[in-house]
Amino acid sequence: MVCSHIENATLNPPSALTQVHKEECTQCFDNQDGPEGIDVCLTCFNGGCVNKDRHHALTHSQLTGHPLAVNIRRITVTNPNKRNNENAPPQKITKIAIVMENEEPTYEFVTTVRCYACSAEESKAATPKLNAIVDAVMNSLSSAKQSEVKAWEEVITPCEHTLCLTQEEPKQLQGQDLAHCADCELNQNLWLCLACGNLGCGRKQYDGSGGNNHAIEHFEKTGHGVNVKLGTITAEGTADIYCYSCDDARVDADLATHLANWGINVAQQQKTEKSMTELQLEQNMKFDFSMTTEDGKQLEPKFGAGYTGLKNLGNSCYMASVLQSVFHMEQFQLRYNQQLSDHALTCIADPATCWHCQLHKLADGLLSGRYSQPLTNDDGVQYQDGIAPGMFKALVGKNHQEFSTMRQQDAFEFFQFLCKTIQQKEHATKNDPTNVFDFVTEQRLQCGKCKKVRYQRDKTSCISVEVPARPKENTENEYEAVDFTECLDVFVRDETLDGYQCPNCNEKTIAQRSVKFSTFPEILVVNPRRFAFVNWVPQKLNIPINFPQGPVQLDKYMGTGQQPGEELLPEESAGSSSCSEPSFSQNDIDQLKAMGFSENRCKRALLNTGHNGADIAMNWMFEHMEDPDIDDPLPTDNIAAASITSKSGPTADQISTLQEMGFTAQQAKKALHETNNDTERALDWLFSHPDDNREMSEQAANDTTTPEVIGGKLKPAVFDEFVLML
Ligand SMILES: [Zn+2]
Ligand SMILES: [Zn+2]
Ligand SMILES: [Zn+2]
Ligand SMILES: [Zn+2]
Ligand SMILES: [Zn+2]
Ligand SMILES: [Zn+2]
Ligand SMILES: [Zn+2]
Ligand SMILES: [Zn+2]
Repeated sequence: MVCSHIENATLNPPSALTQVHKEECTQCFDNQDGPEGIDVCLTCFNGGCVNKDRHHALTHSQLTGHPLAVNIRRITVTNPNKRNNENAPPQKITKIAIVMENEEPTYEFVTTVRCYACSAEESKAATPKLNAIVDAVMNSLSSAKQSEVKAWEEVITPCEHTLCLTQEEPKQLQGQDLAHCADCELNQNLWLCLACGNLGCGRKQYDGSGGNNHAIEHFEKTGHGVNVKLGTITAEGTADIYCYSCDDARVDADLATHLANWGINVAQQQKTEKSMTELQLEQNMKFDFSMTTEDGKQLEPKFGAGYTGLKNLGNSCYMASVLQSVFHMEQFQLRYNQQLSDHALTCIADPATCWHCQLHKLADGLLSGRYSQPLTNDDGVQYQDGIAPGMFKALVGKNHQEFSTMRQQDAFEFFQFLCKTIQQKEHATKNDPTNVFDFVTEQRLQCGKCKKVRYQRDKTSCISVEVPARPKENTENEYEAVDFTECLDVFVRDETLDGYQCPNCNEKTIAQRSVKFSTFPEILVVNPRRFAFVNWVPQKLNIPINFPQGPVQLDKYMGTGQQPGEELLPEESAGSSSCSEPSFSQNDIDQLKAMGFSENRCKRALLNTGHNGADIAMNWMFEHMEDPDIDDPLPTDNIAAASITSKSGPTADQISTLQEMGFTAQQAKKALHETNNDTERALDWLFSHPDDNREMSEQAANDTTTPEVIGGKLKPAVFDEFVLML
């Protein structure tokens, strides 16, 4: 029977841009293949499950007042001829995901219209008008497909100019040839012409920033269109390539060869010959291989709660490893699995774009065990369905250009991005599970002449350690294994600062500096750096790291604070021009410049990381390469910086934005003041200065005696479990 809701419905079919969630519930991983299918709302096209415990479709209808839904159930019709197919892939490959295409399963869809305003139990007859909308839903591109297509579209293509590139005689470009533009002194935003090896600066931007157009002028003169941006070349043989002939971003499959013509050698050339699909296939194969340990023992497949696999969505293993690691941690489980278990009952946001919905969905998906039931394939091999984190990836991608693509990304970078986002989302709730990573470092600086010391403490949430590279004899890119504790030894060791402007001696002296732990986090995140810059290109070094068996005691890496008999260096007075010029360590600058960064960038990085050495500055640099102000001139002294700020105060809008995140107006104003009224940076500033409450100088004076609140852990610092994010 047609009910009044159906009779009087004024509904519109989904447009091409509408997200239609018809494959999977937006709040859990129940999907159209389950015995109950999923309900798609005919008003807003949200997908909800009909499971009795979670009933996300029912809740959606109650919260939104959208009465009508279509239940969609997909049934696999197995092809009886499959096993006799001569073209069947060899058994080895039957386990990988791509097998789907070979088996060509066919599907049937069963649809039923329901009205939640009457009774969800009985199915309803529909009017022709409503049937048309159901048909439109069935024919629409699902949200999952939509974001997948979008993600692949982000992959840039080659053009005839990159494919048919002719290069002039090979020649070895010297370091100084690559130092600045051939026609001016600019040393950033440089584009190398792959045809003739000319180096030109980039386009002038409307606001006068950018380059002097020398690369595009070179193209206009010579017709050489294909250019590669220096500093973007990776060991995998990728780089930012721009074709001026097409006036578009391009890829060059032979980039490694083309660069070699100009003496720039990319580490692993063979990778450049692989297409994206091949790379994906390779990853699936790798997964297959990793089911076997090094000594050839077959690993047991695991099933049930906590053992749910994440499906690979085209090079998304960086995301899978980070998500598996963090949801293995008790604090993330508590926050996103337990505390948010009733979130769906009250959430009035669009679940697909609500971080809390999506983080709970992941936690529930990974930890419930519902999606990790043992199944057996035709070859008798046990497997599980696992979950596909596509909706989460689409949400992440909205906020981060790089992570929206199908390209391979750095797991550590993703981890940092995830933590930063969680901090922002949880600041107002005071329930931030990333607090377990927080701790305070103690930097000790001692002037070599007067022997006076300074202690500075900074809040941080990870350390990046250099892994000593000791090449094995007669091998290529093979290195001796390094003990984990040796990396920490390197991290805390004394470093000599040449040309330190001592505020006590009032002259340049040689100082010693070291960074240790002032407190320990509950969970210490370590990013081991295993790469070297060779010829502008970061190359991965295969250095094995030995992790200790059993608990490891880190007490010896703890700083001591001011010792009896130690005299403190006087504070540098911010106003006086003689001291306000920050003293850069030439060592640090040289080290950073050797990696191909401009002096201005090196100084900015050192300045922004409190002169804590090249390592920390380099990390900062990698995170801030895309900042619009990265190449702005540095403030010459604090007065100049202050005067820019005081000219125009923050807008009420900016203050209220920060207040919405749970900060006081006072804190917001201070943060905006410190960051030149840049809301984004102010937010960063607030998170890195959690206890700052206006009286900066007073706090600094008390710094070494203030009782610690961040990173509760003091001695004994025993860490007893290692989780690897590969
Ligand atoms: Zn659900
Ligand atoms: Zn709806
Ligand atoms: Zn009804
Ligand atoms: Zn130029
Ligand atoms: Zn050229
Ligand atoms: Zn082109
Ligand atoms: Zn929500
Ligand atoms: Zn001194």
